[in-house]
Amino acid sequence: MAGFSRCSVASTAAKTPTSAAATFSYLIRALSPSFSSSSSTFDPETDLNRGKPPGLGTLKREPKGRNVQWAFLGCPGVGKGTYASRLSNLLGVPHIATGDLVRDELASSGPLSSQLKEIVNQGKLVSDEIIIDLLSKRLEKGEAKGESGFILDGFPRTVRQAEILEGVTDIDLVINLKLREEALLAKCLGRRICSECGGNYNVASIDIKAENGSPGMYMAPLPPPPECASKLITRPDDTEEIVKKRLRVYQTMTQPVEDFYRSRGKLVEFDLPGGILESWPKLLRALNLEDHDDKQSAAA
Ligand code: ADP
Repeated sequence: MAGFSRCSVASTAAKTPTSAAATFSYLIRALSPSFSSSSSTFDPETDLNRGKPPGLGTLKREPKGRNVQWAFLGCPGVGKGTYASRLSNLLGVPHIATGDLVRDELASSGPLSSQLKEIVNQGKLVSDEIIIDLLSKRLEKGEAKGESGFILDGFPRTVRQAEILEGVTDIDLVINLKLREEALLAKCLGRRICSECGGNYNVASIDIKAENGSPGMYMAPLPPPPECASKLITRPDDTEEIVKKRLRVYQTMTQPVEDFYRSRGKLVEFDLPGGILESWPKLLRALNLEDHDDKQSAAA
């Protein structure tokens, strides 16, 4: 049976709250000093020893009847946005990227704009309070439109964010995308975005030779379609210096989040074997979703 039907059948109880709007009010409440989340006593030392890698059976733990609540972890440039967006189309749930929420806020020239610009352009993380506020508003707006479930991309990025999220809703599965470091930098530097449609492309051609027992890897460029070609821009934080800084910030602030979910049996590790053509079918297989993709392709 395809993964999709497991994900969307009728509901049983999930942890309170079950709706995005309820999550919204809980998230805000969670930021008050008196809030104590269920995972606030998390101790990496002991919890990690208890952790077991989740097998394919992980998907079966999704509560019946609500859409998936998944999150993507992974270093800058790994392709979280690409794969989260593809899965979101496949599963019919919104793809919510906190980086996009931050960039929208930046572009809005609202009160937070200049403060955020400085933080983001230095490769630092935005405060948990601001990011949760942006995410909460996005969830609330989505619920008003009838959205249910989500694929988060770029959240949580600190253990505190993970604890707060875990305290307010059940995340079913966390996909940790991994790619060799030399490819990450090249991918960030090659990233191009269409200023009109927001499409993501990449001009980098990554060809890493096999060395000392590590296999080689080839990732073809992802060229824009002709209508976007003259409108491409680069992100101001995709410079070599800032990407290296973001990679360091990931190691310090976000790698512990991998341990957080690993210890709860929710983490699926996925080493990207190459570009999209090679990686996508393998990712679907790892998530037990390949039947669903076949049906969608046949129906298209
Ligand atoms: P990356 O390519 O580094 O994964 P994103 O597009 O996800 O980039 O995020 C861009 C920037 O937005 C980050 O460098 C950070 O400043 C901010 N940001 C996004 N998500 C979060 C988060 N969950 N917590 C704190 N800051 C965030």
